[in-house]
Amino acid sequence: MKSTKPITKDQRPNQRLFVSSDLSSDVLVTLEEGQAHYLVHVLRLSLGVQVLVFNGRDGEWLAELKSISKKSATMQVSQQTRPQDYPADLTLYLAPVKGDRTDFIVEKATELGVAHIRPVLTDRTIVRKLNQDRLSARAVEAAEQCGRLSVPEVAPPVPLSALLCAKMTECVVLFADEAGGCPSIQVALADRPLKVGLLIGPEGGFTPTERRALRACSHIRPVSLGPRILRADTACYAGLVLIQNCWGDWAYSLSCNKA
Ligand code: SAM
Repeated sequence: MKSTKPITKDQRPNQRLFVSSDLSSDVLVTLEEGQAHYLVHVLRLSLGVQVLVFNGRDGEWLAELKSISKKSATMQVSQQTRPQDYPADLTLYLAPVKGDRTDFIVEKATELGVAHIRPVLTDRTIVRKLNQDRLSARAVEAAEQCGRLSVPEVAPPVPLSALLCAKMTECVVLFADEAGGCPSIQVALADRPLKVGLLIGPEGGFTPTERRALRACSHIRPVSLGPRILRADTACYAGLVLIQNCWGDWAYSLSCNKA
């Protein structure tokens, strides 16, 4: 059994690192070339320095930098500082947007606690190819920075029809419809479904045909994000905040932080 020894804020090393290896007391973790380069040459950490490591499965652990070579580095894992937790089952379905806004959406959605990020291609989606590795790396960086113990998976893009046809039994997808006249997120989630998705359209919005098809699906509920038309990235952040506040982990963590 793992015994977790919580550490105080003052004892917490500043650096957190996502690794793929299994973590337990005394194991040696070999860092990939990119991570080793980052720790040693960018952060200029030296032998003996402690960092926090996590892999999305085994919680968070203290580890000490034990050896450095040109292409790799090793860390010795010592004690677990936090047991593994799992985020609420919240998925962001987003139509990719232009420039680096999709990267920012991935970063912010990770900070806001989503479990999955699934890009969706709609009729008016202009950006149809994504750099999967870059987006996944952005999610890792954001998870390291914000203290999460897991990294949301960034899936390859799928056509909107896949979402329409999906047989989702426990998941309710909130379709942010800028046309107005829809319930708020709070009202739409009043029955507290087990899994929630948020669907945000591209710069040009959804076509009338898509909107009709979305509204015809029993697992998809149209919602409003207020009286103004938000840019797609703002709509992602606003929707996720509202979902976390009334359904997700915010109410819980706010009361914990006060203790
Ligand atoms: N083409 C639309 C227009 O000009 O009226 C704007 C689309 S908006 C930039 C991109 C997406 O953000 C929309 O498809 C919708 O999912 C979401 N969105 C923006 N404002 C919203 C609102 N007030 N309520 C619900 N969804 C909104």
